[in-house]
Amino acid sequence: MTTPITLIKGDGVGPEIVQAVKRVIDASGAQIEWEECEAGANVFKKGIASGVPQETIDSLIRTNVALKGPLETPVGYGEKSANVTLRALFETYANVRSVQHIPGIPNPFSGRPIDFVVVRENLEDLYAGIEYLQTPSVAEALKLITRKGSEKIIRFAFELAKAEGRRKVHCATKANIMKLTEGLFKKVFEEVSKDYPTIESHHVIIDNCAHQMVVHPEEFDVIVTTNLQGDIITDLGSGLVGGLGVAPAANIGDKVSIFEAVHGSAPDIAGKNIVNPTALLFSAVLMLRHIQEFQAAHQIEQSILYTLGVQKAFTKDLEKNSNLSTTDFTEILIQNLGKETDLWPTRHYTPIKLPIKVSPQKEVLRKDVGVDIFLESKLSPEQLGKSLESIALPSPFSLQMISNLGIQVYPVLGNLKPDTVDHWRARFLLKNKEALLTDEQILHLLHEVGSQHRWMHIEKLCEYNHISGFTKAQGES
Ligand code: NAP
Repeated sequence: MTTPITLIKGDGVGPEIVQAVKRVIDASGAQIEWEECEAGANVFKKGIASGVPQETIDSLIRTNVALKGPLETPVGYGEKSANVTLRALFETYANVRSVQHIPGIPNPFSGRPIDFVVVRENLEDLYAGIEYLQTPSVAEALKLITRKGSEKIIRFAFELAKAEGRRKVHCATKANIMKLTEGLFKKVFEEVSKDYPTIESHHVIIDNCAHQMVVHPEEFDVIVTTNLQGDIITDLGSGLVGGLGVAPAANIGDKVSIFEAVHGSAPDIAGKNIVNPTALLFSAVLMLRHIQEFQAAHQIEQSILYTLGVQKAFTKDLEKNSNLSTTDFTEILIQNLGKETDLWPTRHYTPIKLPIKVSPQKEVLRKDVGVDIFLESKLSPEQLGKSLESIALPSPFSLQMISNLGIQVYPVLGNLKPDTVDHWRARFLLKNKEALLTDEQILHLLHEVGSQHRWMHIEKLCEYNHISGFTKAQGES
């Protein structure tokens, strides 16, 4: 049985590393039928703004698996990133990066038994790219975290821990500050972890996680985290084990998975036959396990370890004075297929259980209790407060407070005079807490506020099962 795989050579050093990896995989005996496709720079030149042509999309729909070289993102021509197009189109919600000490590679952490995996949510968070310049000098980005997306990635992390025989999962968030977004991720983690009683589960604040990754990296097994936090700590992870030339990544969805190196197209070394193909080769090992070619994956992993750890054959990025070319390094890797080392902990892998099923949303009791109106104004907090109070007087609302950059500035707290910008949030709550809030009441209030101030954004304030679905401002009672 052969497995069809979409092969995207990519840009810059892409064709060189893809060629090297394809040669090693073919020599390992893995039964693969390659479908060569295009994406990236050449596609942009043909005028396809997404960077991904229909033939490549069709191939991925057929094969469900791609091995991909790096794709250049042109700067400034309005083109989209072809990488982001592929991830979004095929909903590869899990970005998986293994961080494992590679014997022989000299770096400040050499010799320490580092061996963990970072599972990063790949589709949500600030990466939805929903941004607004709300006033000429204040920009806003929406951080979207969903229960469904969180449950999917967290269940994936536990399933990965099971498949790789790992003992613990850490959830890393900034839930102490972003109580509703990062807090939702933490809450879902606490719920889901109950379904995996044999795996230890811990929550760690993301900044402490970064600190612990440097101080005690061997303490981690699996770390699951939101998109932006994950973006940063995965690169910290590559730095712990030898850098870009050896860091693999996988983008996994319920149907389609895309395997690639962490690094980019490295145009400065493209075409010189000096690029290190190890990162993409480690990604190929992840891919072979994904398609259940466990034997070929083990052979290739052992060959890399033998080549680097025993023979100490290094490309230029790992040893400055080395003259070893990409093609000669590839030849050595092929010769070393079948050789074994005890330099790496032997792990028993089973397939990850996919697709990940999420629980249906439970019924909730919902009640609208007020509205936040975001305003642009040059007035002082006191002037703005008095104006909004008089607007609210004949309405069903009372002005609860005004905040500036999240800090309550009206009613004024003590003698404090925080430095403010022209971007305000005015919070109006129903005077009669038992009454039903209607859209007409909100629209009327907005009309009255808008007749005196420039508003740019409103947000309904809602309680779910009698619990606030909105945070308080700093200082709000
Ligand atoms: P980069 O391509 O990762 O390269 C940074 C530098 O790291 C290279 O110039 C080279 O440095 C070294 N390097 C990276 N991989 C190496 C390898 N396998 N072997 C030896 N040295 C390696 O980062 P960039 O220059 O910022 O990005 C270039 C392009 O790639 C951009 O268009 C970016 O958008 C794109 N990109 C794509 C992906 C992807 O497809 N997933 C990811 C990241 C970036 P020396 O100067 O030390 O030789």
